[in-house]
Amino acid sequence: MADALGISVTEFLDTMVVRVNGWEMISTPNHRPLCFLDEANRCTVYNERPLACRTYPNWPEIWESDEALKNEVTRCPGLAAAVRQVEALK
Ligand code: SF4
Repeated sequence: MADALGISVTEFLDTMVVRVNGWEMISTPNHRPLCFLDEANRCTVYNERPLACRTYPNWPEIWESDEALKNEVTRCPGLAAAVRQVEALK
C-alpha cells in the first residue's frame, strides 16, 4: 500500500496506521473514518488493498449467526444490498 501511495513503508506506518487493542489498523472512526475512499466511494488503493478487504465479507464472524449478519448489514450498504437480493430469490 505504501507503494500505491508513493510513500515509504516507514512513512506509511507513521502516518496511516494506528494500534488499537494490539491490532494495527489503517481505519478507525477517529483515525481514518473514510479509510482510502475517494469522493465517489472508490478505494484509491484497490489493487494494493489489505487481505481483510480482499476477503470481505467472507469472514467467519459475519456468517456465524443470523444476528451477526444482521449487525454487519447495518454497517455495510453493499452487503445489505446483496442480502436483499438473496432474500428476494427465496
Ligand atoms: S477497500 Fe479496504 S483499503 Fe480500500 S477504502 Fe475500503 S477499507 Fe480502505
